[in-house]
Amino acid sequence: MALLGGAGWSAVDAADADIIIINSCGFIESAKQESINAVLLWRKRYPDKKILLAGCLAQRYAKELAESLPEADRLFGNADLGGIVEAAQCAMGVELAEPPSKLPAAGDGRRPLLSLPGSAYVKINEGCNNRCTFCSIPLIRGPLRSRSIADVLAECRELLGRGIRELCLIGQDIGSYGKDFSGGQSILPDLLEALSEPEGDFWVRLLYIHPDNFPLPILDIMERDKRFLPYFDLPFQHGSEKILAAMNRRGNAAAYLSLIETIRSRLPDAVIRSTFLLGFPGEADEDFRALLDFQDKAQLDWLGCFTYSREEDTPAYAMKNRVSKKLAAERKRMVEERQISITEKQMDRFVGREFDVLVEEAVDEEDGLYLGRLFCQAPEVDGAAVINSDRNLAPGAFVRGRVTGRAGFDLEVVLIS
Ligand code: SF4
Repeated sequence: MALLGGAGWSAVDAADADIIIINSCGFIESAKQESINAVLLWRKRYPDKKILLAGCLAQRYAKELAESLPEADRLFGNADLGGIVEAAQCAMGVELAEPPSKLPAAGDGRRPLLSLPGSAYVKINEGCNNRCTFCSIPLIRGPLRSRSIADVLAECRELLGRGIRELCLIGQDIGSYGKDFSGGQSILPDLLEALSEPEGDFWVRLLYIHPDNFPLPILDIMERDKRFLPYFDLPFQHGSEKILAAMNRRGNAAAYLSLIETIRSRLPDAVIRSTFLLGFPGEADEDFRALLDFQDKAQLDWLGCFTYSREEDTPAYAMKNRVSKKLAAERKRMVEERQISITEKQMDRFVGREFDVLVEEAVDEEDGLYLGRLFCQAPEVDGAAVINSDRNLAPGAFVRGRVTGRAGFDLEVVLIS
């Protein structure tokens, strides 16, 4: 968006646009289908507009889609984002004006934000060396490449200067941050040290740490500086050692429970989100029982479940003893059902307590109804804070509130100042 903006393009409603850019996902079957459906939908709505299919699906299946998806005028993968202006110009069939030769530097203030008010994602590394056998992301995104601490810090300072209150650090596995240029050692703790330098009231939220790569020193920093939220997104994927080994993950249920115990003993308010993958090849009844046992013991605050998607060119593609889609879906449903009461119980521990709340949107200003998030709610994936306020609240600002109750997975909050 920054490059396009620099070349004179601006973002408008689809009805007024010359070109519709669809950012796609190519990770699993359902995401691929959703991406293709989006192209078909927009083509149907706007038969005469240009459509540019960008992102992971376009990267992974460039050749196949060029032949099979004529509804997209042009494909643009994510290997070289610097070519977006050229791709857009070519899709429009216009002469190429001088395209900027490189991406804008992180801290130069030109990056438009698509995130919720007050919040920004900051990608600190791209690609992944973990090579989980089910996962196509390393095929799409390539090997691990981390940004320098100085570069990330500059971007974060710039975002804070723009009034951003929540910095969400992301990457395929941010526990591996810096391993590519620091002798195989994670330097995530060093990055957090650097991010604790700026003064002011803001949150830093760490998303996606592979549990086998958890850098324990980050807990020291979190204990010291409360701006680093005790929120942990640790995709455990399974509780059976046999299945974890087949997934090329080194951990086991005992090690993961011990990690959870360590985190909770150091940070009593810690909130842990995870994902489970159901129906991986070879997942027998006893493996599923091991997962349920792990779920009971871990008492995770938030959990997302997925069924296995058989992806070409991944090691698991050729694995035997595949689990039927029906059985995988049934196991997913069982895990999700059991999780409801666990998540509800975990959220209940916040009732009656006071927290900072990041305001996200006004639902009904006259009735004083707003939506926001507490530290225990990551953007877009967890429940929300439903705020009752007798004064107008600005989206993107912090307010102080007391949690008065829970409605489903959401927390009800009243202002206290
Ligand atoms: S750590 Fe995540 S992105 Fe990397 S290979 Fe495993 S599942 Fe894929």
